[in-house]
This record gives sequence, structure tokens and C-alpha cells, in this order.
Amino acid sequence: MSVTDANSPLAASLASQRVRGMAIVGGVIFAAALFGILTRPVGFLASFWPANAILLGMMVRNPRYARPEAWAAAFLGYIAADLVTGGSWHITLWLTIANMAGSVTGYFCFQFVTDKDRRLRHAISVLYLFGICCVLALVSALVGGGAVAVLFDRDLTQGVVFWWVTELANNLIILPPILTFPGFRMVASNLSSASAMSRANVVHWLPCLALILSVMAGVLIGGAGTLAFPMPALLWCALSYSLFTTSVQTMLLCIWLLIAIPAGIVAIPTLPDLINSLDSIRLGIALTALGPLTVASINSARRDLIDRLTQLATYDMLTGALSRSAFFERGQDRLGELVQTRGNIAVMMLDLDHFKHINDRHGHAVGDAVLKEFCALVSTHLRARDLFGRLGGEEFAVLLPATDLIEATALAERIRVAVDEAVIAMASSPHLDFSVSVGVSACRAELDTTIDTMLVKADHALYEAKAGGRNQVRVGSS
Ligand code: GH3
Ligand code: MG
Ligand code: MG
Repeated sequence: MSVTDANSPLAASLASQRVRGMAIVGGVIFAAALFGILTRPVGFLASFWPANAILLGMMVRNPRYARPEAWAAAFLGYIAADLVTGGSWHITLWLTIANMAGSVTGYFCFQFVTDKDRRLRHAISVLYLFGICCVLALVSALVGGGAVAVLFDRDLTQGVVFWWVTELANNLIILPPILTFPGFRMVASNLSSASAMSRANVVHWLPCLALILSVMAGVLIGGAGTLAFPMPALLWCALSYSLFTTSVQTMLLCIWLLIAIPAGIVAIPTLPDLINSLDSIRLGIALTALGPLTVASINSARRDLIDRLTQLATYDMLTGALSRSAFFERGQDRLGELVQTRGNIAVMMLDLDHFKHINDRHGHAVGDAVLKEFCALVSTHLRARDLFGRLGGEEFAVLLPATDLIEATALAERIRVAVDEAVIAMASSPHLDFSVSVGVSACRAELDTTIDTMLVKADHALYEAKAGGRNQVRVGSS
């Protein structure tokens, strides 16, 4: 059955995906445009108009939506919202084309940056976002500025400037939370861990509290400096919370200022021409958002890097076992806990038999496959509290807290048998057998016990297992 067959299940599922995309995009834009229309001042264009930024954000985050039919659904969403609220045909059409010209331009510009930049995960990403917003706002303003001039009897330049500022501000404020949204599941798990953390640590909420206090100070004090009042708190948030959380906080603050300043709740001295003054204030609000967003972006890039480096330092990339240094570090911690209770502790040294021979006979890639298979097998025999590390080459160690010598030896024997029975499927020969020799040592954890001395004993036992013919378990003398 060909992929292009219109009756194929694949074609049917693609068609239903497209219809769903159209319905979501059209529905969301209708709702967002309706919100913009219903909250705009009487007789003027909305200064908070989220629909265009939401459309752009949806298309950038879900490129599978970005198909002509979904853009058409958005177009219908804008038109429907305007017409149900009594807009006239020709103005509705003009405004809609201007709105969409900006979003389409933004979508086109976003194709020139990397996926990480689209999610604001690089130090420079917020400046790219700023550049893209400037360009898309300009295109939108050049198309729509004339409509402002005609509708509100203003000159063309004022119309274009008003549109450019509004579009730039709306996109700079609304796009970051959409672009950095980590998914509903992640947000839910972050919220539950944040509330668990808050019970233990009130300090976690201090940046948020500082932000609220600085907003209140803006209301009480007012004046030209008000826009900058929340900056220290917002920078603190950017350094304390995730990029998404900071984007949401920045958006909420900007929306609050966009509403509170024109409404006179936050008193800011204005220029004699109120319209020009509001343009300047709106631009100022949007631009102040760039600082905290950049800090949050750099901080999240730094956190990603630290996570990656920690992962690299902690785990062996080939087998997923702990690295040598992580095994010793965590082992010493486990031992410290056991010393307090004088609990039992056991270690095993495991070394694959004649591994050089496997490499020489079947190649290094097959040797790697054996190492992976071996580690997967061992892991299935271990408990969550046990540690499994790769000490080097084909040599591994296991640390077993609260385990005595009899239990550890029995476990070592189970692992030996499982490895002996395992086979690696080979394309060229029927199968590949491999085996492991194991040395075990155990003791009661005392102040002078170290992982090193325990491993030395287990290593001696391993040496005996090798000398005794391999594929066997030996116990180290205490
Ligand atoms: P014995 O039974 O005495 O332990 O013999 P052996 O051949 O297993 O031991 P030997 O120390 O002579 O050889 C170990 C080999 O393991 C040599 C080395 O090339 C190979 N080796 C080490 N690390 C890796 C790896 O990451 N991948 C592969 N494929 N081979 C590795
Ligand atoms: Mg070996
Ligand atoms: Mg070896």
C-alpha cells in the first residue's frame, strides 16, 4: 500500500492530524482575538493583543501545525472574532492581514535560528528573539499602520509607530512563556516538587515575595522610575527559578504594568501627547523584560551544561554503570552511613574472562556489545541502594550495603550463572558465550573501614578465581 494512497491508515491519520491542527489553531486564535477585542479601550485599538504572538508561538513550537490550512484557520479565527463583535468587513480584513503578516514574518525569521535558540536556551537567544520581534512588528506595522490612521484620524507615521510598538511589546512579552513551555507533565511535576520544597524551605519563595513587594512599591511610590522597581527582584527570580517560570513572571509583571499605567493605578509622568507617551511607556515595559529573560536564559544554559557534565562524570557512557570516581565517592558515603549503625557491607570485584580474546576474535564492537549486555544483566540482580561501577576496561565493582558475606556470595553466584547462560546473538556465528570471575569480601562497617581495603580483599579473591580456572566465585579472607 503506498503512502500516498488516500485510503491508507497513514493518510487517514495525517488527515485527522491536520483537521485537529486547524481546529486548535482556529479556536485558539478566535478566543485570543475575542479577548483582545473585549478588553480594548472603547473607540481604540487594543494595546494588549495576545493573538498574534500566540499564533506565532504555536506555529514555532508545533511546526506540524504550520501548514497553509492551519494559517487559513487562524485567518478565519481573527475574522470571526471581529465580525461577531460588530466589526466592519473591510477594516476587519485589513487588520487581520496586518496581524497575520507579522506572525508569518516571525515564523519565517525563526527558521534561521537553531531549535535551542527558539527555546531561548543560549545566552544570545533573547537578543535573537528581540531582533525577530522588531522585524515582524515592522512588517505588521507597515501593513496595519494605515488602518490606524484611517480609523482614528491620525497621521500615517503615528499609526505605524503605534502598531510597531504594540506588536513588538506583545510579542516580547507573550512569546517567551510559549517558547520555553516545558510541557504540561513537566510543569505539574515542578509544581508538586516546588510545593514540597516550600514546606521544607521558605527561602525558595523569597524572590517571588520580593517581586510582589516591588510591584506594590510601584503602586505606592509611582514616578518615572517605577518601571525599574521590580528589576532586582526579577533578576533574583531569574537566578532562582526555571527559565519558563521567569518568563511567566516577567509576562505577568509586564501585563500588570500595561494595564496599571494607562489606568492610573501606577502613576507615571506622561508627555503632553498621551498617545506618544503611552507608546514610549509600552516600549519601555517590553524592553525592561529583556534583562531578566537574558539572565534566566544564560542561567538555564549553564544549568544544562552542568547537568551534562555531571552526567558525564558520574556515569560510564558505554555501559551506564557508575564511573570509577563516582563509585568511590558514593561508596564512601554509603560506608559512612553504615559506620553509624555498625551495619554489614559487602563488595564484589567482577572481571570478564578472556575478554581480550572476544575482542580479537569478533572485533571491538562485539566486545562493546558484550560489556553492555553484561552490565544490563548485573543491574537486574541489584537493589536500588546497591552501587555498580566500572573501574576500568572489563573490570567492575559492586557495593552492597547491609549485606553479609553469605548473602553477597549467593548473589555473586547468581550473577555468575546468569552471565554464563547469557548469549550474544551474532550474524556470522551461532552465538557468543562469555563468562565472569568474581571476588567477594564483606565486613562489619567500622571507623577504619575503607572501600579501598575492601576492594583489595575482593581483588585477591578475584585473582584466585582466575587462577582456579575462571567462571567462578571466590571469597576474600577477612
Ligand atoms: P582475563 O580472563 O585474565 O581477565 O583475561 P582478559 O582477556 O579478560 O584480560 P586482559 O586484561 O588481558 O584484556 C582486557 C581487554 O579488555 C583488553 C582491552 O582491549 C579490552 N577492553 C578494555 N576496555 C574495553 C572497551 O571499552 N571495549 C572493548 N571492546 N574492549 C575493551
Ligand atoms: Mg578479563
Ligand atoms: Mg581485567
